[in-house]
Amino acid sequence: MDHRLSEEYESLRATVEEFAHDVVAPKIGAFYEREEFPYEIVAQMGRMGLFGLPFPEEYGGMGGDYFALCLALEELARVDSSVAITLEAGVSLGAMPVYRFGTEEQKREWLPKLCSGEMLGAFGLTEPGGGSDAGATRTTAVLDGEEWVINGSKAFITNSGTDITGLITVTAVTGLKPDGRKEISTVMIPAGTPGLTVAPKYSKVGWNASDTRELSFADVRVPAANLLGERGRGYANFLRTLDEGRIAIAALSTGLAQGCVDESVKYAHERTAFGHPIGTNQAIQFKLADMRLRAHTSRLAYYDAASRMLLGEPFKAEAAMAKLYSSESAVTNAREATQIHGGYGFMNEFPVARMWRDSKILEIGEGTSEVQRMLIARDMGLPA
Ligand SMILES: Cc1cc2nc3c(=O)[nH]c(=O)nc-3n(C[C@H](O)[C@H](O)[C@H](O)COP(=O)(O)OP(=O)(O)OC[C@H]3O[C@@H](n4cnc5c(N)ncnc54)[C@H](O)[C@@H]3O)c2cc1C
Repeated sequence: MDHRLSEEYESLRATVEEFAHDVVAPKIGAFYEREEFPYEIVAQMGRMGLFGLPFPEEYGGMGGDYFALCLALEELARVDSSVAITLEAGVSLGAMPVYRFGTEEQKREWLPKLCSGEMLGAFGLTEPGGGSDAGATRTTAVLDGEEWVINGSKAFITNSGTDITGLITVTAVTGLKPDGRKEISTVMIPAGTPGLTVAPKYSKVGWNASDTRELSFADVRVPAANLLGERGRGYANFLRTLDEGRIAIAALSTGLAQGCVDESVKYAHERTAFGHPIGTNQAIQFKLADMRLRAHTSRLAYYDAASRMLLGEPFKAEAAMAKLYSSESAVTNAREATQIHGGYGFMNEFPVARMWRDSKILEIGEGTSEVQRMLIARDMGLPA
């Protein structure tokens, strides 16, 4: 039982930490304020191999694993969550379903471009009518000869409208099962397909340098071969995708929680009040101790969920607990960090203000806190 990082993992962590500190930190605030997607930073992340971290080299990946991705996400989110969510969604929602459920041909066609970061993938599950109840999907895909014809819409889809978005995978109803329930499948739509409308980007509270759009489909036609995974397995496949994605969001949340500690400890040394650094006050020290405790416990929770996943053991409840705990910790740490910074914590030029704005979505995206509690309760045998 050892939670210390191996040499390879530590080397990756340190490389991403340096990149986040030297490249992302000085530039990202301006992109955030302009609500602009940081293409050059994302391109650099691509050249570093971050988008290919958990994929085999034969598909253009780095030959690492999902935990390596999580370590990179934690280090990025210590500094900025917009770039971290761009990587998270690009890998875990965009490319991973192709790797897990795609045919050999689909993997060879899409993964090298997605792994290089030259192209971004998106995954559209949520619809304007609801996200938590994913089985209530209304978007349809009807087979017409050798083509799927897709109609409907998706809401809040990350990475779906950038200049480098190449692939949008969506869940759609492809028929009814013998028991009368919806048959849900997953279909790949290349960006630019006629009938696909990408709305202007949302005005958001946070993640302002990341891309989030509403999509609509009006008789969008793609080849029958664009079905991803077995017909009717779309629901099961995206549940697997989300289980893994929750570990990644837990890593991202841990990074934000830790970033709040880093910034607040620095500020507690620098800022003086009543003739002393504010960090000499026990009230501030106790806040910082509790913040570090939350970041540390969040990290252990996602390490545990990731190691179970990599060992091929059940990890659904552990992923839900890691996501729930770390996202709520991120929100609490962001609130406390802002408090420690006083009025400056409310000024956008201070990283903790960005962290505060970026933290709330962590309790919502890839399954709300209520959904995580439902999953944990079900794992204890309580009825659905
Ligand atoms: C910035 C951003 C990026 C996103 N990126 C993506 C993406 O890339 N792809 C994608 O598919 N989606 C994405 N989402 C959507 C996100 O996953 C959903 O917003 C989330 O799953 C919640 O769905 P909803 O917004 O429809 O809320 P709803 O499902 O309408 O829920 C509303 C409230 O009711 C609660 N609730 C619902 N059912 C129950 C219940 N049975 N018991 C108790 N409480 C319940 C919820 O917890 C929540 O508090 C993104 C969202 C945002 C804001």
